[in-house]
Amino acid sequence: MHNVIIIGSGCAGLTAAIYTARANLKPLVLDGHEPGGQLSLTTHVENFPGFPEGIMGPELIENMRRQAARFGADFKAGTVSEVDLTERPFQVKAGSEIYKTRSLIVAAGASARLLGLKGEKELIGRGLSTCATCDGYFFRGKPIAVVGGGDSAMEEANFLSRYASRVYLIHRREEFRASKIMIDRAKGNEKVEFVVPHVIEEILSPQGLVNAVRLYNTKTGEKRTIDVDGVFVAIGHDPNSTVFKGKLEMDENGYLIASHGSLTNIPGVFIAGDVQDHRYRQAVTAAGSGCMAALDAEKFLEEHKD
Ligand code: NAP
Repeated sequence: MHNVIIIGSGCAGLTAAIYTARANLKPLVLDGHEPGGQLSLTTHVENFPGFPEGIMGPELIENMRRQAARFGADFKAGTVSEVDLTERPFQVKAGSEIYKTRSLIVAAGASARLLGLKGEKELIGRGLSTCATCDGYFFRGKPIAVVGGGDSAMEEANFLSRYASRVYLIHRREEFRASKIMIDRAKGNEKVEFVVPHVIEEILSPQGLVNAVRLYNTKTGEKRTIDVDGVFVAIGHDPNSTVFKGKLEMDENGYLIASHGSLTNIPGVFIAGDVQDHRYRQAVTAAGSGCMAALDAEKFLEEHKD
């Protein structure tokens, strides 16, 4: 029997782990299918307070993990496939294990979206990627495409220009969601070419490996094919909330709904990070909400000592 189980080991989950471990609650952190969350897939983080020169995402997340472990947090691998929240203790199934817990913090994060093209999933690892830092190195000296118009797409385009011979930034509109500073950086990068307003109609992979994209111009309808060895999809994320369907309140996009900080419709279940935040989605806001969930769980356990 655990006092608190934390689902997810990104910024929110690890901050919740630091706080609950320091409160002597011996939290169990279930890593999930993307240990470390989105920070582990990013490069330079320049806006997390306390690091005037910035810090690499994986280093930041590793520091948080060590910090939580130092206070006694326990970590287990395994993606959660089922939860029973009908009565306390709650039950959480991850891999072949079933865990029981007095309280639960859901910090399951959000995962990268795909374009929804035919055969796209099969091309992951065969030229298609959602993680520039993981896969950029494989495209040294090769032309690649980055899809999206947000900060992620700009960041990935810049990062990938270190390796690729050319980076085509493909976006469906002429306006961008990205911040001005990120757009300016990408536009000032001579290896990055903006291809807008264009949509990928098909990823060509005659030998099972990406070798071109067929595009159409959303304004003129004109078609065009660009030879690329890689396609990096950077079009946002979906919350990892499927196992909570019908159990916790969520909006039409699947984001869990918090009230009064981290509280849910079930007493003893708290939520934090990107699984409940489609607005801010920053490392520092995720960490802040992880702290709130931990304090709420601590208070709940104090009030329910049964
Ligand atoms: P985002 O801001 O939601 O942008 C997603 C982009 O993908 C949009 O331009 C969208 O186009 C496009 N898109 C969505 N679905 C598409 C589809 N099916 N086909 C083609 N294009 C599609 O997501 P994000 O860039 O991942 O950023 C998420 C959050 O993280 C933001 O708050 C951002 O500021 C933050 N972030 C910050 C940094 C940084 O500061 N260093 C780095 C990365 C991310 P439309 O605009 O037409 O909808």
